[in-house]
Amino acid sequence: MTNATNQPVQRESELYIDGRWVPGGGADLEVENPATEEVTGVITQASTEDVANAVAAARKAFPAWSVTPVRERAAILRRVREILADRAEVFADLINREQGSPPRVARGLHVDTPIAVVDATIEALERFPFVTELGNSLIRREPVGVVAAITPWNLPLHQVVVKVVPALAAGATVVLKPAGLTPLAAFELARAFDSAGLPAGVFNLVPGSGRVVGDLLTRHRDVDQVSFTGSTPVGRTIAGVAAQTLKRVTLELGGKSASVVLTDATEEQLVRAVKVTVGNCFLNGGQTCTALSRLIVPEDRIAQVEELAAAAAAKYVPGSRLGPLISAEQRKEVASFLVPGAGGPAAVTVTSPVELPGRGHWVSPTVISRVDPDSRLAQEEVFGPVLSILAAGSDDEAVMIANNSIYGLGGAVWGDDETALTVAARLRTGQVDVNGGAFNPAAPFGGYKQSGTGREIGEHGIADVCEIKAVQR
Ligand code: NAD
Repeated sequence: MTNATNQPVQRESELYIDGRWVPGGGADLEVENPATEEVTGVITQASTEDVANAVAAARKAFPAWSVTPVRERAAILRRVREILADRAEVFADLINREQGSPPRVARGLHVDTPIAVVDATIEALERFPFVTELGNSLIRREPVGVVAAITPWNLPLHQVVVKVVPALAAGATVVLKPAGLTPLAAFELARAFDSAGLPAGVFNLVPGSGRVVGDLLTRHRDVDQVSFTGSTPVGRTIAGVAAQTLKRVTLELGGKSASVVLTDATEEQLVRAVKVTVGNCFLNGGQTCTALSRLIVPEDRIAQVEELAAAAAAKYVPGSRLGPLISAEQRKEVASFLVPGAGGPAAVTVTSPVELPGRGHWVSPTVISRVDPDSRLAQEEVFGPVLSILAAGSDDEAVMIANNSIYGLGGAVWGDDETALTVAARLRTGQVDVNGGAFNPAAPFGGYKQSGTGREIGEHGIADVCEIKAVQR
């Protein structure tokens, strides 16, 4: 199947339920390539009955999967990993088309990172303390049951892998509802699970809208845990609905992460801080939850930082290094932050608009300086390539500004190693990178405050989908 300009259109009319591909009972949904606005896929969504069948299959599969020996679960996940590696280019191409990331980003960020997460999860599984002793008690960690995974569009494979793989490792069974804007990678992942020999019902795929399929899963009495990644407002709704059945909830929500340059930062550290912060903020078209979207710098160095940031931003050329926004709606939302006043009265834009491709949801990479810490731009998640620079009169003030947020997901600190570690401990956030510390695919990932509850990835991701039982002897 091809579209009007002869580009391939992925047709997915079947859902993966109870180990079989079955015709979906819901309406068809077109998937748009945000870089070209062309149709790149058509999927059939799940009906209410499909959702019920998927949950029933997951429930039925749970008793056997939960007691399948760890080495067998690990062996299946190793096969999944091999298939992901073998088909990495297929995944990267799909993600390039459905999410718009340029090919290099689609491969590195969107495919190689989740493969590293699978590796780290298998390692964590093999040494996971499922049973420990405490006095006369055996402390058992047992898989929670059926996990409903609900994922966003910004990382169509990674967001699914960080939920589903630790849950399967723990011995839980899963029903996945991927984002409507980017469902294609999830179909390819379902084929990988099928080929790897995952038993019927252990993983099920039911694409559809959040309001219908997501809501049905959140309400369902036979779902034991909802693991949700997405926006803070939808996270609040899900927490409220899930409370009706008191099911467990993991929420990975929005962010407004700060990159803090300390007063003792060397010239070299300052230059690196600006380059890394701009790159991190613009990664994936600015559409990552941990985007370092606030750069907080000593006020006497702000002029130099503005110059460095503008030069770094100029390298993010839309269409080559910088991808588009996901939709026309998202572009409108981002544009609403680019109006005078959004950053407060003193805010000044230090980048110039660049030429954008004729079609697609593009915006110019933008750096705005002298942003008021209480302004809308400094307080709300933009989810686009827009960096704010804020001035601080001291390191204490920088910490105060960094923590002046309803969010607490990521962060960075630059300066003397010792001082930077002390400042990292003062940031109210789930992750902090000191002097450019690299992403660790085994480290716990999650937020403080309204960035969410629970932790994903590695050992902590497995623990997050386990109940704890004390057995006394
Ligand atoms: P979203 O909240 O609109 O949707 C996320 C998922 O929830 C989608 O699958 C959607 O269909 C579903 N959904 C929507 N309404 C629902 C409802 N009432 N009940 C059940 N499910 C429902 O988020 P998005 O726009 O897809 O993603 C962007 C947001 O995700 C940003 O705020 C970003 O910060 C956040 N995010 C967070 C993390 C993290 O790990 N903390 C990672 C990536 C993205």
